[in-house]
Amino acid sequence: MSERIVILSHYNPDGDAIGSSVAWYGYLQDLGKNPQMVLPNDFPQNLKWIKDSETAVIAGQNMSKAEDLILNADLMICNDFQSFSRVDKLEEIAKKSKALKVLVDHHLEPEMEQFDLIFSNVESSSTAELVYELITRLTPENPVKTAIAEAIYVGIMTDTGSFSYSCNHQRTFEVVAKLIETGIDPWRIHQDIYNTFSEDRMRLLGHCLSNRMTVLPDFLTAYIYLTKEDLRNFRYIPGDTEGIVNYALSIKGIKFAAFFTERENRIRISFRSKGEIDCNEFSKTFFNGGGHRNAAGGNSFDTMQETIQKFETLLPEFKQKNNF
Ligand code: 5GP
Ligand code: MN
Repeated sequence: MSERIVILSHYNPDGDAIGSSVAWYGYLQDLGKNPQMVLPNDFPQNLKWIKDSETAVIAGQNMSKAEDLILNADLMICNDFQSFSRVDKLEEIAKKSKALKVLVDHHLEPEMEQFDLIFSNVESSSTAELVYELITRLTPENPVKTAIAEAIYVGIMTDTGSFSYSCNHQRTFEVVAKLIETGIDPWRIHQDIYNTFSEDRMRLLGHCLSNRMTVLPDFLTAYIYLTKEDLRNFRYIPGDTEGIVNYALSIKGIKFAAFFTERENRIRISFRSKGEIDCNEFSKTFFNGGGHRNAAGGNSFDTMQETIQKFETLLPEFKQKNNF
């Protein structure tokens, strides 16, 4: 029986990372356990209302506590990432931990040797959906509580862009129907997650679209970039750039989009694509990253100008290879 359970998720936690972690947390508490969520860094404001999310130990704010929990855990649930490289500064500690490491995830190419037990389904809309499948099989006699259903709903909703992608299976909607049966309010959840932007964030979006977007019709590609100065000018807080890449992809005829943000010591990149175009492969091969076929993240350690130049140079071959 595990008594020191850690629920770990990835750097820059998103709605699925938080939703799936909180769902495990509530579920295990109800089984009489005392689990602890650990996150590499803080998560966006619009997710802070989620019940129990405030109990997460954030390594960026309390490294020694996060390390201590991970090193002394006997069970570690690794949620919504496929490799310990995604937990940033906790990578070495997590690898070193003697805990039984259980992966619950939907990203491509899980690092099989890093985990003891793997629940990975790349066809799943989200990790949160997988958590639903697991907890309802582990204890079929227990109804899913409303607060847990709410967290799972957040994970599915945010990872599918409000049910617009990665949700071609009817199962996702069956799970959502079950969640609604528990009494959650999807409308309110949507309001709390999406309609709480600050004025600064909306103006940052305007700046991106008016002044920082390049459309390359020959390559059916559009990209947006933001410098450190842009972020300062619009009083950036974590979460403010979430989803902006999708605007580039929503232009008619555009099939491949990228979003470059200048961070402390690197350029952080988001890639998005339509159909068969493989962002995961592109990011893994050229930009130290990965993810899913239609949504991947990456990093560049060159300057913004060099990074964008490299990106543009790679487009002709990428377009040819992916037939778009
Ligand atoms: P985003 O662009 O929203 O940061 O990330 C898109 C998707 O790619 C997410 O599912 C995320 O988990 C994954 N991802 C983001 N960054 C990385 C990375 O550096 N490596 C890998 N393997 N996946 C990433
Ligand atoms: Mn996810």
